[in-house]
Parts: sequence; C-alpha cells; structure tokens
Amino acid sequence: MTAVLKLRPLLTATHRYDKSLSTRDRGHGQIIQAPILAYLIETTNGRILFDVGCDYAKIAAPKLRAQYYENENFAFGAPDMQEPQRLPHHLAQLGLTPADIDVVFLSHLHFDHAGGLCDVCGTEVHVQQDELTAAQAGTDIAYFPSDFSGDYPWQVKQGEYDLVPGVRAISTPGHTAGHMSLWLEMPKGPPILLCGDAADLTENIEQEIAPGLCWNERSDLALESIRKLKRLGREEHADLWPNHDIDFFNTLKRYPNFHE
Ligand SMILES: [Zn+2]
Repeated sequence: MTAVLKLRPLLTATHRYDKSLSTRDRGHGQIIQAPILAYLIETTNGRILFDVGCDYAKIAAPKLRAQYYENENFAFGAPDMQEPQRLPHHLAQLGLTPADIDVVFLSHLHFDHAGGLCDVCGTEVHVQQDELTAAQAGTDIAYFPSDFSGDYPWQVKQGEYDLVPGVRAISTPGHTAGHMSLWLEMPKGPPILLCGDAADLTENIEQEIAPGLCWNERSDLALESIRKLKRLGREEHADLWPNHDIDFFNTLKRYPNFHE
C-alpha cells in the first residue's frame, strides 16, 4: 500500500540555454527554454520535497548575480526567477510554511536543484555520499559550494532506499556522481518516475541521448541510467517524467492542482 497521496510539480524558475547542455553532442546553437522544477509529494507519513530550485539571492542581487552567473565559466547566464516563485510562496498557497516539509530529497547538488535549500532550512536533507563528495570537490561548474555549505541537517545516503512506502530512491548516476531519481507509487494513476536530470527532455528518454554535462565525461553511465529508467517504466507500466522539458511540463497539472 503506497503512502503517496498527492504530487504537485512546482515551477521555480525558467532557464534559457543551448540545447546541447540537455542533449549531448546535439542541438548546438539551438536555444531552449527549460523549466526549473521542484515537486511536492504529500504522503500519509509527511511531506517530501524533491529538489528545491535555485538560490533566489544569487539571481536577484546584482553583485551575487555577477559573481555566480555573469562570468566566462558560466556561458548559460542566470535563470529567470521571480520572487513569487520561491518555495515559501508556493507553499503559502496551500497554507503551508517550510516547517511543514518533513524531508527534502535532492536528485543532485547542481545550482538549479540545491540552491533553494536556504529557503527551507531546518528540514532534513537527503543526498548521496558520492554526490556530496563530488560537489564539495567542485567537480563541475554547475556546483555552487555556498548552496550546500550551510549547516543543514544532512541525511547522507548510499544507494537505493525507500523514503516511505511507495516512494523509492533510484540510483541514476552519470549526469553527476550520485544522481538519484524518485519512484512514486501513485494512489490512483500509474507509477511515476521523476527522472531528475538523468533525463532533461523526452528526447533523452525516447532516443537514449545522454545529458550534455556528464560526471567525468561518463556518458556511458548516463546512458545506462536512462536505459534503467526505461526498463523500470516498461516492467511496472510507469510514466517517466523528464525534468527540464517545457512541452512535457505544459501537459502536467498546474500548481496547486495535483496528480494522484
Ligand atoms: Zn544538473
């Protein structure tokens, strides 16, 4: 019996960038607009937040913006994020505050997934040991160490595990060292696999294309993870949700509406 009650996708920002960042060796010179998402999962055992979006201050404050996004290392520039897109505002629409979140589950520690931790501080944060190690070592430019160097109540994990009945952390390394996807057994509809950045776009899934950024150039590992997600989807008749696909996102229920 699944503990999942409701799933709400949350649009925390949008980001325009070269498509080759999502599809390795494909789409150079083609600019796409990608949603930056978080997902609020309500269960009988509490509320889980999958990813937390960007740190708003690094986008809104000119000095920080220049430091983090407007430099030669960072070709994609800052995402577009408005104050009402911060997590506390989304939660307020449901009459909730960050204190009502029981667990933050991070797919990985890139700026567009872990930056919003400062808006939900105090909540237990799940991350993989391999991910934390790689991020602290600054393995790639999409890690902003100040995003995750605060005094957060980390729950450092290794490998796959159940958060609550019907919610399973699935190991999908490749994009980053300790990337995780999330399996959700839904109360009414088919199971949902939140791919995270294991699959940015539907194209990554359908055509088995690795993401542009791969940990240590391990696109083989990233492809293995895409195939693993597809196999799970086939065997369990689950829907795979890509994470940065604006067309796919537009087919989903609009917050605060939910999937169940
Ligand atoms: Zn990423």
